[in-house]
Amino acid sequence: MTDTKSADKPVVIRRLWKSYGNNEVLKGISLSVERGEVVAIIGPSGSGKSTLLQCINFMEPFDDGEVLIDGRPIGLIQTPGGTRTRMPEKELNALRREIGIVFQQYNLFPHLTVLANVIEAPVHVLGLPRAEAILRAREQLKKVGLTGKENAYPGELSGGQQQRVAIARALAMQPKVMLFDEVTSALDPELVGEVLATMRKLAEEGMTMIVVTHEMAFARDVADRVIFMDGGMIVEAGDPKEFFSNPQHERSKAFLKRLL
Ligand code: ADP
Ligand code: MG
Repeated sequence: MTDTKSADKPVVIRRLWKSYGNNEVLKGISLSVERGEVVAIIGPSGSGKSTLLQCINFMEPFDDGEVLIDGRPIGLIQTPGGTRTRMPEKELNALRREIGIVFQQYNLFPHLTVLANVIEAPVHVLGLPRAEAILRAREQLKKVGLTGKENAYPGELSGGQQQRVAIARALAMQPKVMLFDEVTSALDPELVGEVLATMRKLAEEGMTMIVVTHEMAFARDVADRVIFMDGGMIVEAGDPKEFFSNPQHERSKAFLKRLL
């Protein structure tokens, strides 16, 4: 059932709780993302940032709370008995299509060319005719600056180029929102800039984005809002310029100080 209050927001997270065994990793996270908004999530290692992203598309099932994609709850559905149960895979996969996700490790298919990587899901998941998928893929590869690399194999590309293919592949599904989990952390320093520039361009074109990052300059300059997480909670959220120049909480101050 669509939640009409949240239908105009690509992502709404309400009171999300998640444990791994006895380890409580998310402790009541709530976060709404507006259409076209870029939200940067920062925080120390182990604070639950990756888990939060993975709960958004229910790659990691959460224990309590809810996530709405365009107003539609993902992952769990109400049973007549009043409890909740995992939604049918078909329904889950339909919602997941709205969510593009890119990880630190570019998980491209090594035995497929760049073009074949990008058309794979549009052809096999969306059922798009091959010719149309190829047109769409070329458009996305152009957007990430990889025109001319269609026939290369991932192993022939730099890490930065591979990561841009991973972005193009996610965009080819025409998602409503893009999630990025430390996509530049595994790259050689000289390759970080090209990937951040691609993400900045995407942001400027109006893509809704949730970006977990260690790149504080990116968070400050590109994000509309910064979220500081620690210990499975949102400790502080606000305007990036305000946050970086004048953090309010002791833990935010300590985190920023350690980066200097
Ligand atoms: P971050 O991305 O902020 O570094 P994570 O979400 O990866 O944090 O991890 C938060 C906590 O959850 C850590 O204590 C981590 O060890 C634990 N954790 C993450 N993934 C798993 C998993 N698949 N199984 C068990 N524990 C996990
Ligand atoms: Mg992480």
